[in-house]
Amino acid sequence: MSKPVPVPAGFIKSPEAIGAMRAAGWMLGQTLQILSAAAKPSMSGDELDIIARDTIRALGGEPAFLGFEKFPSTICLSRNDAIVHGLPTGQRLAAGDIIGIDCGVRLNGWNTDAAVTITIGQPSGVDTNLITATHKALVAGIQMVRPGVQLGEVQAAIQAVIEKLGYGLVRTLTGHGIGRSLHEAPGIPNYGTVGTGIRLEAGMVFCLEPMLTTGSGAVKTAADGWTIVASEGSHIRTAHQEHTILVTETGREVLSAQPGEII
Ligand code: MG
Ligand code: MG
Repeated sequence: MSKPVPVPAGFIKSPEAIGAMRAAGWMLGQTLQILSAAAKPSMSGDELDIIARDTIRALGGEPAFLGFEKFPSTICLSRNDAIVHGLPTGQRLAAGDIIGIDCGVRLNGWNTDAAVTITIGQPSGVDTNLITATHKALVAGIQMVRPGVQLGEVQAAIQAVIEKLGYGLVRTLTGHGIGRSLHEAPGIPNYGTVGTGIRLEAGMVFCLEPMLTTGSGAVKTAADGWTIVASEGSHIRTAHQEHTILVTETGREVLSAQPGEII
């Protein structure tokens, strides 16, 4: 038997924190659903960002990304070979794009974080399959979450799907704990080993976020200093999906689920 892995301070949330994160997660699910419906050819990233900011504020939350580590926007918009941390700009979406929309909502000082990847216009088979694989990887991880399971088993479930389906797994970016800050300990890679990691307990809240590419999974930072792109170049397609998840007494609750989303 290996020694238990220590639980980071603050990883288990109070009922008050969970209540705020549940409400913030509901707002985030609503917002991502609205953004996914609004993202059409000829709409700019800036326009989508304004919809996100206004929607979150109308629902009673705060845009959690805006100003976080000096990030200038409400959403990350990552297009085609860009996988995460893309900046919305005046550039217009085009039919054939695959875009990741990552967003966070804060309520009473408590954060939530979630992302979707969608296609603009008629999707290619390559993009459809990539998005389906990313969703399967996220769901495989989520379905492992319950008290007593170790995080390594959750991570291994995500990794198994990505590798079985033959995609590149981004190893240099991870899921994470979340709470007062958007990114808290522990880091949760999208790969891992059964029998390792923190043992889950009710009240823990964290983000799982598989990132897949049609390349090797290698990524680098683009010239803008924010956007993470596939290392191999612009012919590579990428996808990222994320949810904020609460460990409950009997399993898990996906706090950032969209209305009607089946997980
Ligand atoms: Mg995120
Ligand atoms: Mg995250």
